[in-house]
Amino acid sequence: MNNYVKHPFMVNDLVVYPESRDRARVIDTDCRYELETTPESCTCCTFRFGSLRRPGFQCRHIKALKKVLNGDVKPDYLP
Ligand SMILES: [Zn+2]
Repeated sequence: MNNYVKHPFMVNDLVVYPESRDRARVIDTDCRYELETTPESCTCCTFRFGSLRRPGFQCRHIKALKKVLNGDVKPDYLP
C-alpha cells in the first residue's frame, strides 16, 4: 500500500506530495513555503521550536502527512 507516492494530496490548506514512503514535500498554500516533512520531523519553524519544548511535537504538516500515510485522504489526481 504505497500508491500515495508521487501524488499530490490536498489536506486542508496544505498540499502534501510524498516523495517516498516516509518523506514528503509539503506546500503551505498560505505562506507558499515548501517544507520537507517526515512522520518525525519537519523543516518548518513551528516544528523546530515546538520540538525543543516538547519531544514528539507534531506540527500541522506532520499531522497532514500522517493522514496521507494512513490513507485518510484521497489523492487529488490519479493517473
Ligand atoms: Zn511543519
